[in-house]
Amino acid sequence: MQGPIEADALGVTLVHEHVRFRDEAVASQWPGRYDEQLELDAALVAVGAAKDRGVRTIVDPTAMFGGRDVRFMKRVADQSGVRIVACTGIYSYDYLPHYFANRDVDVMADHFVEDIEIGVQGTEIRAAFLKCAADAAGVTENVEKIHRAVARASVQTGAPIMAHSMPAVATGPRQVEIFEEEGVDLAKVQIAHCGDSDDVDYIEALIEKGVYVGLDRYGLEMYLPIEKRNAVAAELLRRGHAERLMISQDFCATIDWFPPEAAEIFEGQGAIRNWSMTLVFDEVVPALREMGVMDDAAFQTIFVENPARWLTA
Ligand SMILES: [Zn+2]
Repeated sequence: MQGPIEADALGVTLVHEHVRFRDEAVASQWPGRYDEQLELDAALVAVGAAKDRGVRTIVDPTAMFGGRDVRFMKRVADQSGVRIVACTGIYSYDYLPHYFANRDVDVMADHFVEDIEIGVQGTEIRAAFLKCAADAAGVTENVEKIHRAVARASVQTGAPIMAHSMPAVATGPRQVEIFEEEGVDLAKVQIAHCGDSDDVDYIEALIEKGVYVGLDRYGLEMYLPIEKRNAVAAELLRRGHAERLMISQDFCATIDWFPPEAAEIFEGQGAIRNWSMTLVFDEVVPALREMGVMDDAAFQTIFVENPARWLTA
């Protein structure tokens, strides 16, 4: 948001947070159902709290279908003083609009390249990385098409990739395989949400392919509780994988997937716990320090060097 990235200027980075997440179709058809001031205030509270913990950069992988809006992101960046890094790509578990269904992979890739080389949504703000997703449905035909388009845009521009994954159905290995088939440099690939699994060997097998893995949904207890996430992180650190780990929360300052009262209900049910942009600093890092697996050097590796290396490799 504040111009091209200098790797050593990123500082402490949260690699996976959303300043706003909403359905862009609903939001554009019924804008009166959304309160932009309220959304902005919530984003500034969340980002401000992270800034108080030393965060200087937030990587926001909100893509198409997540309501990506770089003008909104820039307002948050300008008013908070925290750099926000935007992406291009498509966040779909299967659905593709006719527009992309009836055009080939290379045309799709061209759209992503335009965002990376020229600018997003008519601005001069350029996307710094590519986003795609595979979830419960697995790597469907449409999901594969998006992955291949993302891969080709990465090969063409050098931009890194973040792929949402679902360890419960083991999407990660196939996602990596597609990137490999397309000739992507796997050192530019981050497989998000690996931390939803407590299968350390599954995660380690991905790391051995040379990709980064996201332990990036701290606070989303419905997928895996914090203590189990910490046990996985600790074991990966013991096995010497600090340079491949990304720790974050996938927090959404606002999200329209549920009615407003849902957050309190989820918290009450234990489905989420202290989900925020500061949880990893308030609870996770202290716990990992206590366990003797995170010292200052490991903190620097995970929160400063890894995001910078991934974004600028
Ligand atoms: Zn996310």
